[in-house]
Amino acid sequence: LPGLKDKVAVITGAGSGIGRAAALLLAQQGMKVCLVDLKDDRLEETKQEIELAGGQVITVEIDISDSKRVEEAFEQTAKTWGRIHLVFANAGINGVLAPIEDMKLEDWDHTLSVNLKGTFLCVKHAIPHMKEMGGSIVITSSINGSRTFSGFGMTAYSTSKAGQLAFAKMAALELARYKIRVNAICPGSIKTNIGENTEPTAELEKIKIPIQYPQGNQPLEHSPGQPEQVANLVAFLASDISNHITGTELFIDGAESLL
Ligand code: NAD
Repeated sequence: LPGLKDKVAVITGAGSGIGRAAALLLAQQGMKVCLVDLKDDRLEETKQEIELAGGQVITVEIDISDSKRVEEAFEQTAKTWGRIHLVFANAGINGVLAPIEDMKLEDWDHTLSVNLKGTFLCVKHAIPHMKEMGGSIVITSSINGSRTFSGFGMTAYSTSKAGQLAFAKMAALELARYKIRVNAICPGSIKTNIGENTEPTAELEKIKIPIQYPQGNQPLEHSPGQPEQVANLVAFLASDISNHITGTELFIDGAESLL
């Protein structure tokens, strides 16, 4: 795709799922990629796969809700390769699933902190390294941020994902003067590791859920989507062929959100 070769990308949540697929595709397209994630073997595996294919890659192991460490990650990337063209603010968690009245404040805070504060921090600390040249910021929200019809227990998650959509639009307006485009993507169910640490609480199990979330029942394919399909959309939004697209939310869900 035009406008990617030799440009620099920072990808959060790059050790797994959507972030990993995006990192592999963008490196294949000739981008230099900084992979950001928590300390995890999968981050190293992603790095090795890119190196084996001849790509340029560095890794930074941080928690994206830690402002100082996020700032350092962007400084390190810029020191290594110069100005940054793409930020894929993608790391996220489901968090603890609980009914509102049983939700612990610390669990609410944690979900908001990783998904929403983490997104804010990535964009905030990226701007100094992007504003001279312009570029693209892609934020992974969810269909749950816009059409919040998933089962009970996802309140904190959906709230954080809705917050990301408002943030993306405000950022698009504010950063247009630097020729930085900002778009949110809203995947439906995608086959990743996000459910790995997500257990419903006992309180949630007691609730009879009247609205069944159509888990992965996507009219187009009758199954969850693949991370590689989402990565294609990220590459499009990073490239020059999307240079008139900013401030949008793009659904990628095989029509799941229309059920
Ligand atoms: P995933 O669990 O496979 O990958 C997420 C990555 O983010 C992991 O490698 C994890 O270690 C990392 N991460 C989590 N907390 C972090 C933190 N505090 N600091 C740094 N890294 C952290 O899941 P995924 O499905 O690929 O998730 C990527 C994004 O896609 C998330 O924002 C998620 O909300 C969103 N999303 C996923 C789906 C889905 O069905 N999988 C649907 C809609 C939106």
